[in-house]
Amino acid sequence: MTDFNTDNMPFDCERGFTIDFDLKSGFSSLKETSLRPLSVVKGIFSDEDAADTILKKQDPLIYEFHELSVPEHAGDLAFGCSKVHPGKVGKEYYMTKGHFHTVLDTGEVYYCLAGHGYMMLENPEGDWSALELRSGKAVYVPRRYAHRSINVDPVEPLVTFFVFRADAGHDYGTIAQNGYRNLLVEENGEPRIMVNPKWNQG
Ligand code: MN
Repeated sequence: MTDFNTDNMPFDCERGFTIDFDLKSGFSSLKETSLRPLSVVKGIFSDEDAADTILKKQDPLIYEFHELSVPEHAGDLAFGCSKVHPGKVGKEYYMTKGHFHTVLDTGEVYYCLAGHGYMMLENPEGDWSALELRSGKAVYVPRRYAHRSINVDPVEPLVTFFVFRADAGHDYGTIAQNGYRNLLVEENGEPRIMVNPKWNQG
């Protein structure tokens, strides 16, 4: 099938465009993902010794996502797929860095295409939740909440499709400095919430 379009420019945010995302892998034939291996994101994991032990032997890919260069304009929508690989660092599951939006009052939608995981939410006042994600489920990330996706499946990647206001910006620094109040860890083969011993009130 072909688009009926007078000027088929890729990534044309002025006139519209299409892009493929595979429902299982989240990959696109038109855009490579940005990679976040353990060596780059190891500071997000609570168990630093476990991270260092892994890094002595290998540098596993923790997650990857699309950056489609949508203009950071109030009326535009940034979107793409995020893929968190299966695995753990110590007892903690592989996960994304997590961020607030720089424009804190900005929500986001994630739609789970494949896998099993959680979206960890936390606002500056300390309200939090961890919402389960499975293929076919969408999660609404409210304005003012930091969000992080966590893969709890031992084998399959967690693949989500996200959309947010393109001028929202990413504040990774607050989470990098303070951490989340809670961690999602595996105990007896099950996901469990654990108070983050290194959480820093900021
Ligand atoms: Mn976001």
